[in-house]
Amino acid sequence: MALQMKVIPVTPFQQNAALLWDDVSKEAILTDVGGEAERLLSEVDKYQLKLQAIWLTHGHLDHAGGVTDLTAQHAIPVWGPHQADDYWLQALPEVTTNYGFPLSQPFTPTHWLQDGDKLTVGGHTFVVYHIPGHTPGHVVFYSQANSLLIAGDVLFRESIGRTDFPGGNHADLIHGIQSKLFTLPDETRVLPGHGFMTTIGHEKEYNPFLR
Ligand SMILES: [Zn+2]
Ligand SMILES: [Zn+2]
Repeated sequence: MALQMKVIPVTPFQQNAALLWDDVSKEAILTDVGGEAERLLSEVDKYQLKLQAIWLTHGHLDHAGGVTDLTAQHAIPVWGPHQADDYWLQALPEVTTNYGFPLSQPFTPTHWLQDGDKLTVGGHTFVVYHIPGHTPGHVVFYSQANSLLIAGDVLFRESIGRTDFPGGNHADLIHGIQSKLFTLPDETRVLPGHGFMTTIGHEKEYNPFLR
């Protein structure tokens, strides 16, 4: 059995939603369902997958704005983010209106996540790291066996997440990346919330915010 991943950029912000599934059991999850629920579900159908959950890294509109559309059609649990992002989820109607996105309803996830929690899809385990700074409740998902990190808006290729939103904290973000992500193996593949994939080794060497 092997973990498969398809990256599907959604919303005007081109946010990297990811469809992760096991190629034998066909069990699947979606990360960061920012919008375009129909398009995401058509990918699930295309590969004949059994969609089992949504995982969220944080509460921003481009990552969480499509959740209520999707759960209206599939009664699946929503895991994450950390509870400190509740104010972002409750503000979704206001922020989606402000940014000209389709109106999105507030919601409370089925399960809040904490540092050290474990999630699985089709027998593949991901560890949760809580890395505040971009938002206070931001989490990332790491699979050691698959050498894969779903990083949301914590770490980008040669950049890092903005910290100028309410609740942001630059020092926390830098500390979290250095203490929790830069201790992962260099070859770890990183899927950021926006833009190209990278690796931990590349970021250690070339990321101007972290040298
Ligand atoms: Zn964000
Ligand atoms: Zn984002």
